[in-house]
Amino acid sequence: MTITAFKNAFPEVNIKENEPLSRYTYTKTGGPADALVFPKSKEEVQTLVKWLNENNWPLTILGNASNLIVKDGGIRGATIILTDMNQISIQDNIIRVFAGAPLTEVSKRAYDAGLTGLEFACGIPGSVGGAIYMNAGAYGGEVKEVIKKVAVLTRQGIIKEMINGDMQFDYRHSILQDSDDIALEVVFELEPGDKEEIKEKMDELTYLRTSRQPLEYPSCGSVFKRPTGYFTGKLIQDAGLQGFTWGGAQVSTKHAGFIVNINNATATDYIELIDHIKEVILEKDGVMLETEVKIIGEDFITEENTGRELISKAKDTIKAKFNEIFLAEESENL
Ligand SMILES: Cc1cc2nc3c(=O)[nH]c(=O)nc-3n(C[C@H](O)[C@H](O)[C@H](O)COP(=O)(O)OP(=O)(O)OC[C@H]3O[C@@H](n4cnc5c(N)ncnc54)[C@H](O)[C@@H]3O)c2cc1C
Repeated sequence: MTITAFKNAFPEVNIKENEPLSRYTYTKTGGPADALVFPKSKEEVQTLVKWLNENNWPLTILGNASNLIVKDGGIRGATIILTDMNQISIQDNIIRVFAGAPLTEVSKRAYDAGLTGLEFACGIPGSVGGAIYMNAGAYGGEVKEVIKKVAVLTRQGIIKEMINGDMQFDYRHSILQDSDDIALEVVFELEPGDKEEIKEKMDELTYLRTSRQPLEYPSCGSVFKRPTGYFTGKLIQDAGLQGFTWGGAQVSTKHAGFIVNINNATATDYIELIDHIKEVILEKDGVMLETEVKIIGEDFITEENTGRELISKAKDTIKAKFNEIFLAEESENL
């Protein structure tokens, strides 16, 4: 099966071929997707998933790519990104949202409607689907507290409705991480609240976030889950790793739980730095850090990328040779 056959089967869907995922990930790293697909409706996602399943093509799902490291070899097969599927509707205290909507926007719309319960989410940069997958949370709140039900799609293309209790929400975990089902639509149930109080809370949390997190650099948020009985940031600080730089990636000097892209980092820089931190903390404190960020994609560079790399290396060699000759001539003329 070829990408052309895939594109021909869905002429009405926006499908980008060999698309660099560094354009979408919050870390600004990652190799290309063979086919990056932008569905706009639940029905489109369902038809795409059925077709990919029948044609045995691998499928990867992306939300806002704020909790992901895509390896430098990129992603084979189809990658569906849900950010164009983002409608939000509100009736009384119920908010119905398509999975690609930004969680920050849902939080803002809840405030506009005078509904309380989603203040904690006002700065979490994920999509609603990604937030369900991760049971995202901040400052004492978690998505699981405000979810009424979720419409999910199996990899075989069947839509199921799940209520909160079916989702097996836990710390940065939901059943979607085990089932591989895709969240399509989410129903939040909030409480009527005082708009002034909601705004105050959101302003306070925004202040905390902007003063403590290195939002001026690309990152994927907290890299590690919080190990029971410890604070990850403190473990990393005490190990002397704050500011440690590997390639273009750095343990943030503002918040040691974040790794920031300070200078054209690659996904490999990120992954090697993560491994180094894990090794140091295991040796020093006996604590096995577990990543919160999801690492996906291929290590290996495709033939096409290898070609590009060879050309770039050849250019570097020519440049170096040219400089050598130029400097030699200059010194002869002195
Ligand atoms: C600056 C910064 C601050 C952050 N702060 C917080 C915070 O305070 N609290 C917190 O919890 N997180 C935080 N995060 C992490 C991230 O925003 C959350 O984990 C968010 O929920 C991820 O959503 P996403 O749409 O970006 O998911 P992605 O990164 O796109 O995907 C993450 C995983 O979810 C899966 N997925 C995405 N959408 C779906 C779907 N519809 N159905 C099934 N699977 C899906 C993907 O396949 C992938 O495995 C932060 C990140 C950054 C960059």
